[in-house]
Amino acid sequence: MRGRIALQSTAREMVHERCPFSRSFGSAHASSRRFLAVVIVDFAIRDPTELSEAADVKILSTVAEAQAKPRVKRRVLVPTMGALHKAHGELIRVAREAAGKDGEVAVSIFVNPLQFEPGSDYKRYPRPEKADEKFCRSAGVDLLFRPSADEVYENDRSTFVEETSLSSTLEGKSRPGHFRGVCTVVAKLFNILAPDAAVFGEKDFQQLAIIRRMVRDLNFDIDIIAVPIVREGDGLACSSRNQYLNPKERKRATVLHKALLAAKDAGKKSADDVVRIAQKVINGAPLARIDYIEVVDSETLKPIEIAGPSSVLLLAVFFGKTRLIDNLRLN
Ligand code: AMP
Repeated sequence: MRGRIALQSTAREMVHERCPFSRSFGSAHASSRRFLAVVIVDFAIRDPTELSEAADVKILSTVAEAQAKPRVKRRVLVPTMGALHKAHGELIRVAREAAGKDGEVAVSIFVNPLQFEPGSDYKRYPRPEKADEKFCRSAGVDLLFRPSADEVYENDRSTFVEETSLSSTLEGKSRPGHFRGVCTVVAKLFNILAPDAAVFGEKDFQQLAIIRRMVRDLNFDIDIIAVPIVREGDGLACSSRNQYLNPKERKRATVLHKALLAAKDAGKKSADDVVRIAQKVINGAPLARIDYIEVVDSETLKPIEIAGPSSVLLLAVFFGKTRLIDNLRLN
């Protein structure tokens, strides 16, 4: 009995190490407690030497390794560009739930050159490899796929995946070629890692809609799971790019969420009025330069005149050289 108690407390410590989000997310709490109970029972009947192995993340960097073994477990993939933060942590938590007790969570970290338009921040995009590894370990990720650009793309590549309708507006207008790069790499990740489901964040609202469309149009047998926007305490949507902001810009950037809320809360029906309210709030903040603010239908992403339950307000705003995006549903 004493042996069993000792085992359980070891497992409890390990689960806490694997699920740091249970402390920062109210909604995560109940599920991580369920996870805790399962793991305690599970580990209590295992050889304790297996524990460190079970908690470690398997890191793969080549396509050949990733495709080497036929997979038996249900796999849920979280595609990222790294510089992991608490929103990624939430995606991983959701992936863990979707994978179930016997499934596995795979995270990919790949700063995809194809989705960066010329002159953008591809080179300076943060790549904190060790911190990301540690993050994945703490979050209970089973598999980390972290290939180089040369591994993913042949020099003479000539095949791309392009969605041609939803990609033509909003981010697609401001960042030509961006979504072709996104669809190409996500399709490749789906082929390489063969997940049963994949998790994406609503912060990249248009990206999510385009991935869903690609999955439908190309018959990928993969469930797409959406996660609501995760925000910092002051309302700024978490983003790896927030670290580009200097302290003044970081403070001003909170205006984005305020503008979205003000535009929604005014209860206007005319999309022009909704946009005008958001513009006014943002223009009142020093350092902000609006790229676009639009109300569109959440499925077609087409501009609408009268805001309704399926409308979403999206914006992209520069603070200095840093371009931030955010959105809010108007229902
Ligand atoms: P990234 O590493 O920026 O490419 O993001 C990887 C995934 O995390 C994408 O599906 C993003 O939409 C999602 N994500 C990033 N930031 C947030 C956030 N603040 N809230 C929800 N999802 C996010």
